[in-house]
Amino acid sequence: MNQYDLVVVGSGPAGRRGAIQAAKLGKKVLVIEQGKRVGGVSVHTGTIPSKTLRETALNLTGWRERGFYGRAYRVKQEISADDLRRRLLITLDHEVEVLEHQFSRNRVHNIRGKASFIDPQRLEIIKDDGERIEVTATSILLAVGTKPFRPDYIPFDHKSILDSDELLEITDLPRSMVVIGAGVIGIEYATIFSALDTAVTVIDPKATMLDFIDREIVEDFTYQLRDRNMKLMLGQKATKVEKLPDGKCSVTLDNGRIIHCEMVLFAAGRLGATDTLNLSAAGLEADSRGRLSVNPETFQTTVPNIYAAGDVVGFPSLASTSMEQGRIAARVAVGVIAKEPPKYFPYGIYAVPEISTCGLTEEEVKERGIPYECGIARFRETSRGHIMGLDAGLLKMIFSLKTRRLLGVHIVGEGATELVHIGQAVLNLKGTVEYFVENTFNYPTLAEAYKIAGLDAGNRMGEVNVEKIEKKAAQ
Ligand SMILES: Cc1cc2nc3c(=O)[nH]c(=O)nc-3n(C[C@H](O)[C@H](O)[C@H](O)COP(=O)(O)OP(=O)(O)OC[C@H]3O[C@@H](n4cnc5c(N)ncnc54)[C@H](O)[C@@H]3O)c2cc1C
Repeated sequence: MNQYDLVVVGSGPAGRRGAIQAAKLGKKVLVIEQGKRVGGVSVHTGTIPSKTLRETALNLTGWRERGFYGRAYRVKQEISADDLRRRLLITLDHEVEVLEHQFSRNRVHNIRGKASFIDPQRLEIIKDDGERIEVTATSILLAVGTKPFRPDYIPFDHKSILDSDELLEITDLPRSMVVIGAGVIGIEYATIFSALDTAVTVIDPKATMLDFIDREIVEDFTYQLRDRNMKLMLGQKATKVEKLPDGKCSVTLDNGRIIHCEMVLFAAGRLGATDTLNLSAAGLEADSRGRLSVNPETFQTTVPNIYAAGDVVGFPSLASTSMEQGRIAARVAVGVIAKEPPKYFPYGIYAVPEISTCGLTEEEVKERGIPYECGIARFRETSRGHIMGLDAGLLKMIFSLKTRRLLGVHIVGEGATELVHIGQAVLNLKGTVEYFVENTFNYPTLAEAYKIAGLDAGNRMGEVNVEKIEKKAAQ
């Protein structure tokens, strides 16, 4: 009875998609999840909550209308942590419900408990009430994700010195906040709280931030953050964090500077959640950050019947890519061919403002020695931008001078994470600058920025024999 074709540990995007894929292929599948409800970090503490918080903050503050009515404009004057949580709970409930329904519809079994290896084909599950269950699997998919890195020198108190999981449980909105870590999670939360009028300081030992993003986009983004008084203290390290007798916090930097604030968010890194899996019993070993290495095409670990997908295998650590990895891993695990996914996937940073990117950055194009041309459009050049009152927003495309093909698309501003998919499609379908120059876009839309940027690049690249180029690109 406890014998399965595939046992999946973790019900986040990778586990969920893998389990459903295997079930759809007629396999007997079990998902083990230690959390109270299915969904993983993505649903409970990561993607969905942070994006819901962002949407709520933008709506309640009237952020999107400030271009018209000025920076003092507010939809709701006093915004409380309760206001933010209310929408969060409704969204999360709905997400979990959809997931539970997907599992039951596809006959995926589901046990709540903590899994660990007995040997490469057997797992032990310890339930909350202490009950022990043993299951056997032909294949196992580890989709255990990550948990926040909590260094000893940070006195986390679950109230005002927090990691990114705990931030969602705050009961009062802070008036000032220090965010340690200028990675994607740190920057997203820093800008969301800044939109809520919290005075935010971001500290990071690295002199630059978001290094995988095109520099021109980061420069524009940084300008917008500084313009609204966010403090970016890059190239400076936090060496001590303390809770003061008056309830406030102090953060000491390596240059001796001390910053006082009401709340500290530590968002500098996450570790693979492999420490309780008893990996050695399966013949597996994680790296120093708790991550597992896999064959990037099959997601097979060094033990042939054990697969790993999602954040536990490292970069790019996105819900979107984790789902695809889980699906491929499950297909390979049950012996069904998995097609290689298209080369280019988008990266979305849901900061305020949004950033999204797909393909090569200008820095990467230069490094590879590819002759190129860029096309740029500012959202304020579009009629839609005027209607929306946008005074910022930038779309940049990079084209090869030789093949005229699109090499990369980079956007900062309203709707960036949606807009990027047009560029992604053209990239994966090997389209050229002519696609943007000759196509008609809905008017008025922000997508029209693609046309403007295409014309900008096209004008400098000169006219060509389009037929010849398209034939060549299709080869
Ligand atoms: C604040 C934040 C914002 C984010 N925003 C975005 C975004 O906007 N877009 C995006 O694409 N990605 C985003 N991400 C990343 C995204 O959440 C992850 O890429 C995604 O959740 C990874 O999915 P996963 O399936 O690998 O694992 P997870 O979602 O981490 O789920 C793993 C599950 O495994 C369970 N588990 C672990 N160990 C065991 C065990 N031994 N036994 C049983 N169960 C176990 C855990 O309880 C957990 O439920 C964000 C992450 C964070 C933290």
